[in-house]
Amino acid sequence: NNEDTISEINFKQKFELKQLDFKYESRKSNTLNDISLTIKKGERVGIVGTTGSGKSTLLDIIISLLEPNNGLIKIDDTVVFNSERKDIDKSLILGWRSLIAYVPQSIFLTDASIKENIAFIDNLQNINIENVKNCAEQASLSGFIESLPQGYDTLVGERGFQLSGGQIQRLGIARALYKKCPILVLDEATSALDNNTEQKIIESINSLSKDLTIITV
Ligand code: ATP
Ligand code: MG
Repeated sequence: NNEDTISEINFKQKFELKQLDFKYESRKSNTLNDISLTIKKGERVGIVGTTGSGKSTLLDIIISLLEPNNGLIKIDDTVVFNSERKDIDKSLILGWRSLIAYVPQSIFLTDASIKENIAFIDNLQNINIENVKNCAEQASLSGFIESLPQGYDTLVGERGFQLSGGQIQRLGIARALYKKCPILVLDEATSALDNNTEQKIIESINSLSKDLTIITV
């Protein structure tokens, strides 16, 4: 909602999840039970677990798309969510969300050009094409895009050029990098890639700013 106000959150040292429980409404029992963890700024954290164990659900809570039933979320000394205190200003959690770039397990493409799909948040006039190209390069996608007759203007999505699963994933990574957020959250973002391409992307992501915090399933 564009009218919601967003508080600026200054993420300096760490964020904490404390004793989180989460239950999907349609489920009988909790999907997540008593999750506590602390992630320091600049840390690169991996989340590992069997299929259906709740990894994507945990990420949805971290990026504040889902609200825990119990527990507390704290950024440095600021509590942005507390299940026992519903009066906490919602603008804080929106501020937290604005710090995060997220690559979901399945990427949504709009019926638009590649450059619009990478920039995503901007309207056409505001697209920083240099930034688009850098991010495509970091996501190992620039070679492919440049080989297309219409390059960054190629239309993709349902009615456009059909991209492979791995190309879509790399576009999703480029889109997240374009936002230049201090926190990057990846949900099996390289699962459709061959080992060499995956390794190249992981190296280029790891070489980004040391302050960048990365959470990966
Ligand atoms: P995968 O490795 O297959 O991606 P995951 O660890 O990411 O699995 P989640 O997607 O978090 O698992 O799902 C955890 C559990 O919650 C599963 O049992 C799943 O069926 C259930 N679940 C996920 N989304 C919903 C939903 N929207 N409504 C109800 N149950 C859900
Ligand atoms: Mg998942």
